[in-house]
Amino acid sequence: MYDPDNIFAKILRGEIPCKKVYEDDHVLAFDDVNPQAPVHVLVIPKGAYVSLDDFAAKASDGEIAALFRAAGKIARDLGAAEKGYRILANTGADGGQEVPHFHIHIFAGRPLGRMVARPE
Ligand code: 5GP
Repeated sequence: MYDPDNIFAKILRGEIPCKKVYEDDHVLAFDDVNPQAPVHVLVIPKGAYVSLDDFAAKASDGEIAALFRAAGKIARDLGAAEKGYRILANTGADGGQEVPHFHIHIFAGRPLGRMVARPE
């Protein structure tokens, strides 16, 4: 069940400010408030989807295409495509998802190390 009071829903409604880096009919992207790399951007669909699981099942082909085209364009426009970057979509409890509105993280600007940290 989608929670319309989650923080990204509030950002989409303009109730909470964000540092916008990209917007189109289906997608909003903005800087993460607690960046984990020199570039750390969140790319979100404007539609009300909880997670990648929800988005993949219910979003239109147009929404899905828009999100991935936007993510690639944003990374390129930020100058990250040449040296490389990482996208990440934490999904659900084991995935470490904190905000229940589907989002893709883009990290760039430094070598990003191992793909997944192993708990000790
Ligand atoms: P998750 O763990 O759900 O994949 O990532 C949620 C991300 O949202 C975190 O990286 C966190 O720093 C970011 N975040 C949480 N609240 C806000 C906010 O109010 N504004 C922005 N720009 N980012 C936020």
